[in-house]
Amino acid sequence: MTLSNHDAFVRAQDAIPGGVNSPVRAYGSVGGDPRFLASARGAYVTDVAGREYVDLVCSWGPALLGHAHPEVVAAVQEAATRGLSFGAPTVGEVELAEEIRRRVPLTERVRLVSTGTEATMTAIRLARGVTGRDLVVKFAGCYHGHGDALLADAGSGVATLALPGSAGVTAATAGETIVVPYGDLSSVEAAFAQHGPRIAALITEAAPANMGIVTPPDGFNAGLRRITREHGALLIFDEVLTGFRVGPSGWWGLETGSASGPDAAYDPDLFTFGKVVGGGMPVAALGGSAAVMDHLAPLGPVYQAGTLSGNPVAVAAGLATLRLADAGVYAHVDAAAARLSAAVGAALDDAGVPHVVQHAGNLFSVFFGEAAARHGVRTYADAKAQDAFRYTAFFHSMLDSGVNLPPSVFEAWFLSAAHDDAALERIEAALPRAARAAAS
Ligand code: PLP
Repeated sequence: MTLSNHDAFVRAQDAIPGGVNSPVRAYGSVGGDPRFLASARGAYVTDVAGREYVDLVCSWGPALLGHAHPEVVAAVQEAATRGLSFGAPTVGEVELAEEIRRRVPLTERVRLVSTGTEATMTAIRLARGVTGRDLVVKFAGCYHGHGDALLADAGSGVATLALPGSAGVTAATAGETIVVPYGDLSSVEAAFAQHGPRIAALITEAAPANMGIVTPPDGFNAGLRRITREHGALLIFDEVLTGFRVGPSGWWGLETGSASGPDAAYDPDLFTFGKVVGGGMPVAALGGSAAVMDHLAPLGPVYQAGTLSGNPVAVAAGLATLRLADAGVYAHVDAAAARLSAAVGAALDDAGVPHVVQHAGNLFSVFFGEAAARHGVRTYADAKAQDAFRYTAFFHSMLDSGVNLPPSVFEAWFLSAAHDDAALERIEAALPRAARAAAS
């Protein structure tokens, strides 16, 4: 028996807070009933009512190859037949760590965890353990998961819900995080000039993608490297979203143009990965030099652990995904993103909707409003000042036409290797009506 999305949502709200297990899924900022998905294949998802949509969420990033790639599913099935979880080391974990290091050689050592949140939380603890300092610098609008220290002025769901941070984070914890505006090295210099000897780390999204897409200004990441090094703080490069999605070596590889560590234009101390690295299963990772990473237990005094860390079935999905993610996959996703983002821009232009489409490699998002169109969006303040209401109309028109967009204007649009001409044509056909809806 098919269920309507509405009935599913009503039932869900009785059993689960807000009916969802991650806030943005609730359609809070766009309104209406979230689509409860029953299955996903390639570029398409199908809801409980049996309706199919072209998907531009891609599980919020992991589905680089498209949903349920047959070789990934086969790897998962094969791994599952050998056991679901051992609580002991496996060779698959070693292979995944080696594959990450092959792509980002600065990650001499890699620790596997289950979520991006764990990866960034552990990176912060490790930075504090290594430096013996307390403070952390982050950027307004950057999202690094829901660890207490990193929720201040965060993007993603925190932005969607218009929260300054989260209740339940102690004042003491919040007081150990310094938030500065993105893209402005002088603000970073000022924070370090004031607090330098107490700062353990600066954490940044490699390219911000959780306040919409904000392309890092030229030389910005290299500038962060310079400043952190001058002050003896670690640079944590959060590639949970960008890693292995915008290119084989993530944003770092794209921007430095090199996957060979020592010659790279900048060299973060720690990287965090998630999403694509698990191919749709719960795997995330942090990596860095042996000198830093070997402070983790059992070698060092910084504790970190996990019953399901490096889970063999999840690792099989990640490994299969990375092995399939070759140059052809990235070329396809890049071309699809270029084509679609141009089509979105053209449709909005034709409908007279002021906007700007911003890119970070094959990730893009749309900001609405005159100011965004005129000056671009460079900070969280710019992103929040946009005409977000226009996205609501745009989103629902696309949904009515069978296109599943992220249900928040602050999220990136995700494409996959499975988005072929047929899928892109379906999206393109839906754009003019959605653009007119955004105009009114
Ligand atoms: N870091 C970044 C840049 C992210 O985009 C996210 C999630 O969207 C996270 C960390 C947290 O990852 P997870 O949701 O797996 O905990």
